[in-house]
Order: sequence, then structure tokens, then C-alpha cells
Amino acid sequence: MLKKTSISEISDLAAQLMGKGALIAPVREEAGFNFREISDAKQVDLNFYNTIISPKSAFFPQTEDFVRYQTGKDILEATPVELNIKPAFLFGVRPCDVKSFEIMDIHFTGTGAVDPYWQKRREAAAIFGYAFDLNTPADGADFYSTLGIGAADPEGSDVFMIKKGDDLLLKAITPKGEKLLAEMSVLSDATPDDLNYFDDTVAAGRAFKTRFTCVEAKPIAKKFEDLFGNTEFWEKVSNACLSCGACTFVCPTCYCFDICDETLFGKGTRRRVWDACMFTDFTLEASGHNPRTKVYQRLRQKVCHKYSYHIRKYGPISCVGCGRCTRACPVNIDIFSIVDEAMKA
Ligand code: SF4
Ligand code: SF4
Repeated sequence: MLKKTSISEISDLAAQLMGKGALIAPVREEAGFNFREISDAKQVDLNFYNTIISPKSAFFPQTEDFVRYQTGKDILEATPVELNIKPAFLFGVRPCDVKSFEIMDIHFTGTGAVDPYWQKRREAAAIFGYAFDLNTPADGADFYSTLGIGAADPEGSDVFMIKKGDDLLLKAITPKGEKLLAEMSVLSDATPDDLNYFDDTVAAGRAFKTRFTCVEAKPIAKKFEDLFGNTEFWEKVSNACLSCGACTFVCPTCYCFDICDETLFGKGTRRRVWDACMFTDFTLEASGHNPRTKVYQRLRQKVCHKYSYHIRKYGPISCVGCGRCTRACPVNIDIFSIVDEAMKA
């Protein structure tokens, strides 16, 4: 099913979706765009390149309270925080970010230990993927095409959206998407010409280049295995790194977290918070020993996790080439350049 609307009337579609559940879409903020729950349909703005922080926070929030309790009282009196899951529409997700959900599913639901927080939110959400604009050159930091991800790949979305002039084409990709589009009275039927345009754009998206070197999973995994003990290589590529962790916080495929207790005046909360392997004390053990005291060891961990260990253990590279880490890094460290350098080493 292919439907369409005029981009100038996008707020009508937003309002209809808001009537069915939470609408989470890129919102313009002072520093750039970020995914937020929409409170006013007019906030929806499709004139963005990509968000600063990835959409993973829709399923895996930066902080999440699990349990509330009172110190000194029996643990049985602690109250689990209700999950309060409602239908959600994640609107305007770029193809590389849609791909990241597949990778994150491996960790949160695919390895035997199921994370109900991630799983329930994923099940309750419909993904509206959104093609990159093929008439605009890719941001210099992006490299999704080198990992085999097209600029207009609809796979993984429930509904996939492509801009055509002043119109927005919406195609149902899954049965969930079919049902949703059939219920949207603000949408009109697309023409055969729209259908051709949609298919041509998907094909053109596969030929659209971000950077030119192609990365293959198994050879790069082996390359990094061989380079593991090459301290000179790792010191060189991590020389400027400040261990600030910004690259991991914006990344759609970083999933490390810490669980901590916060107590104030006898009231306690157990909560999950994002953590990052780039932080100095990430591997600090209770004994005081820290196996990764050096910056190069931490950057090596981040790169090898994504481009070596993850491949050996699960198959895919744990990176989708969205370029956020490079854009966010205060000292311009570019993970793709490290991969490229490794391939040439
Ligand atoms: S490592 Fe960088 S390019 Fe790869 S998915 Fe994470 S933020 Fe995107
Ligand atoms: S953002 Fe840059 S400086 Fe900060 S930890 Fe990552 S690589 Fe290092």
C-alpha cells in the first residue's frame, strides 16, 4: 500500500498519530535535532539531516527507574516502577538508525536473556523510516553505504517515507504498517507515477555513496584481532582522545549501562543509566584494580567490540555508519578512519 500527503499538511498526519499513541519525532532544538515525544503536532519538522542523539532512547532511555524503596525497611516493601507502555510511533528514522534496532535486538532480546523494558517498547512501537535526501550530499562523517546500508532502504521499518517534491510518499512495509496506513484518513492514494518514484528512489539509495571503501565483517574482524597487541597503532589513533564518552552516548548501537542506587532522606531509587567503555572507571573493579587504565586500551575496546568481537560472537558489525560519533567528538576522532587504517595495516 502506497499513500501520500503534502508536506505542508504533515501536522494533520502527526495529529492523527497522536490520537492513537505517543508520537516521537525529530524536534529542532538549540544544538540541532533530537527525537522527542511530540506535544504539539506543529512541532513535526522533516527538514533535518539526522539527530544528534540516536533514536535508541525511545526504547532504552538514558535513565530509567526500576524500583523505589525506603532504607531500613524490608525489601519486600519495595515497589517496582510500573512500565506504563503505550503505543508509540517513531517517526522519521533514517535507514541506518532503523538497522541499529536489529543489532540492539540481539542484545536485549536475542541472546536468551530478555530485557522486558526494551522488548515491550519495541513491540508497542511502529517505525516510520525516512529516506535520506539523495539530492543532498551525505554528511562527511557518514559511512553507512560502506557497510551495505542504502540511503533509502525500507527494510526494518513498518512504514517507509520518501519525499517527492512537496509531497511525502508513505509505503507500508509490514502488516502493522498496512493496518496503520489504512486507518489514516488524512492520507490520499498514491498514483502509479508515485510508485515508480518510490521504487526508483530505493534503488538509487543503494547506489548512493557516503564514503568509498567497503568494509566486510569477517576480514575486518580478523584484522583487528591481529592488531590487538600493536600498541603503537592504538596509541597513534587514540592520541587525542579525552575519554569524554560523547561518541558512545550518541551512538545507536552502544548499549552499556550501569545500575545504581540513589538514596535521599531514606527514600531510595534503583535506576539504570547509560554507561560508556570510554570512561576511566568503567572497568574499575571493587579491589581497586582497573584493567583499562590507558586511553588507548579503552578506544581499542570500543572499536574492537564493534568491528571484531561482535562479529565473532553474533555475526554483524555493531556499527551502522551513522557518523554521529565523529560529529560529536571534540577532537575529531573518526572511527571509520581507524577502520580504514586497520585495513591498510
Ligand atoms: S560507532 Fe559511530 S558511526 Fe558507528 S553506529 Fe556508533 S555512532 Fe554511528
Ligand atoms: S568523543 Fe572523541 S574524545 Fe570523547 S571519548 Fe569518544 S573518541 Fe575520545
